[in-house]
Amino acid sequence: VKHIVIVGGGFGGVTAARRLSALKGFRITVISDSATFRYSPALYRVATGYKRQQAVMSLPKVLGYLHDIEFVEAKVTSINREKRIIITEKNVRYEYDFAVLALGVITTYFDIPGIEEYAYGIKTPGGLREFHTHLHQELIDHKKPDPNYIVVGGGPTGVELAAGLTYYLKTIVHRHKLRNSKINIELVEAADRILPTMSPRASRIVTKRLQKLGVKIMTGQKVEAETSRSLHVNGRSIPTQTVVWTAGVTNNPFYKENETQFRFSKRGKIIVDEFLTVDDHVYVIGDNAETPHSGMAQVAIMQAEYVGEDMARRQHRITRKPYHDTPPTYVVPVGKQWAILQRGPMVFGGMIAAMVRSFADLIGYADVLGWGHSFRMWLQSDDLEETCTVCRLAIKQEQSQ
Ligand SMILES: Cc1cc2nc3c(=O)[nH]c(=O)nc-3n(C[C@H](O)[C@H](O)[C@H](O)COP(=O)(O)OP(=O)(O)OC[C@H]3O[C@@H](n4cnc5c(N)ncnc54)[C@H](O)[C@@H]3O)c2cc1C
Repeated sequence: VKHIVIVGGGFGGVTAARRLSALKGFRITVISDSATFRYSPALYRVATGYKRQQAVMSLPKVLGYLHDIEFVEAKVTSINREKRIIITEKNVRYEYDFAVLALGVITTYFDIPGIEEYAYGIKTPGGLREFHTHLHQELIDHKKPDPNYIVVGGGPTGVELAAGLTYYLKTIVHRHKLRNSKINIELVEAADRILPTMSPRASRIVTKRLQKLGVKIMTGQKVEAETSRSLHVNGRSIPTQTVVWTAGVTNNPFYKENETQFRFSKRGKIIVDEFLTVDDHVYVIGDNAETPHSGMAQVAIMQAEYVGEDMARRQHRITRKPYHDTPPTYVVPVGKQWAILQRGPMVFGGMIAAMVRSFADLIGYADVLGWGHSFRMWLQSDDLEETCTVCRLAIKQEQSQ
């Protein structure tokens, strides 16, 4: 029985485990530094009041639906490709016949003073909790909203979050009985337009939509520093204690720490061949691989599925087929029942796009959880969750009236 070691329990790792567990003759170990699976497309929803389990799930449970998979919670620190060994922080060694590396990216703050210390993030379960607690605690402590809520980064995450906040802040300010309070939400982007990876037409449509929701958009603006009470942008100081950083990611440091084992692209991603491998035994997929559309969950899933197919072909000694990247469809939600969709030259915004996004989530959940659980999760996608005691009391009062 051959041993496959998968590093990373995200979209790439979990989908690879699912596909590979269907093949006979392999033993699979999934090693991840966290026991949670993050369904990242729903992180902004959890940040704006929806049920936490939509985006944060137990990884052993997710993998538990599969057969012959061992899960190890550990941080992988090195690889020896010559000896085919993967080593964890605690110096435990895993010999592999095949390895699949899908460690994802990490947040970068571009060394901007104060950002790492003061800005909030929504990418990790801990970060989400801190951000949520802060939004409510501020209302309790100051009896008024923050003068400015600032989202830095006009990519999909920043856009989704800024739009979601327009509804959520109104709701919680009302529940905290702070009526007539003005809420000011700003979206700051360094490029000259928001959604810079999408078409200019998509940017224009979304800019209008966000403005209609009440978000102020500041493009071509560089964040220079943050203090405990303000954000400095292009020489201006904006009073705020709520800055969410969604602006930058960089490849997982594991690769640089094992520099001699990999070749890097200009973007710091790993150069892979037409089979997504760096040698006959190691695949690198998802956000880590230098492929045209990497950086999206749907691409990580596609690549993991390819690994399953490629391994099957190799096992049955059928001619291998190279990996082909299919351009992804971009669907970014911008507030309730509205999304922007871009597929090739086609761009449109509205309710139909929001419905496409909702079905994409059903499929996305199915990729990691299987159809039964996915359907249940999807049906619960409008369920709300509130931990703030003031809001819980207000909800109870609303319900009893
Ligand atoms: C807020 C947000 C919203 C997003 N929304 C969308 C969207 O709507 N649609 C879309 O297509 N994409 C979206 N993405 C992008 C998508 O999340 C990524 O492209 C996708 O997760 C990449 O999959 P991956 O398997 O390469 O990495 P990940 O899913 O990030 O998984 C990496 C895994 O590796 C583990 N790990 C890291 N380092 C180590 C280590 N040293 N040892 C062991 N384990 C390690 C991590 O804990 C994690 O489990 C979003 C991303 C974010 C942050």
